[in-house]
Amino acid sequence: MQKLILNSLPYAYNELEGVISQKIVELHHDKHQNAYVNGANTALEKLEKSRNGEIEINTREVLRDWSFNYNGVLLHELFWLGMRKPSQENKPSENLVKIIEQNFVSVDAFMKEFSASAIGVEGSGWAVLWKDKNNNLMIGQVEKHNLLGLNGWEPVLVLDVWEHAYYLDYQNNRAGFVEKWWSAVNWDYVVNKLVG
Ligand code: MN
Repeated sequence: MQKLILNSLPYAYNELEGVISQKIVELHHDKHQNAYVNGANTALEKLEKSRNGEIEINTREVLRDWSFNYNGVLLHELFWLGMRKPSQENKPSENLVKIIEQNFVSVDAFMKEFSASAIGVEGSGWAVLWKDKNNNLMIGQVEKHNLLGLNGWEPVLVLDVWEHAYYLDYQNNRAGFVEKWWSAVNWDYVVNKLVG
């Protein structure tokens, strides 16, 4: 398995201002996401050394570290890709509206269900829009970084509701963060993932 690297953001650090401040983006990407990259690589090194007979490891613990950090990296990469410069007029395109309506009745119902999922995450975690190979859509939660649920489903759009994602800007008002976040959702990215 190759070592992970910290991917660059797909935009400038201040691109999300109004929804997420530059300061949070800097800390979130350069410190938190980077720590998950390093954590995954440290776990990989331990596994390699153990396989080579150089060290004894607690396999359960190291594999747990590996999956926590590796999923953390993947989720953060998706998180950044799912956003763009915030705008009051930020709306899904007509073909995406149709897909959302087929799955959730209306865009409003989809946003309500996704927001409730994000706001309701117990402690640290994520809201996730999942798709299966037939483009059926479902919303779910991820606790911490545990991408457990839904075998064969792929995360399309994810929202980080760990406190490090919003506390500097919104303090304990997670619902306020979630509400604002919709103006930064990159709907073009979402529809490309669904219809290619
Ligand atoms: Mn995070």
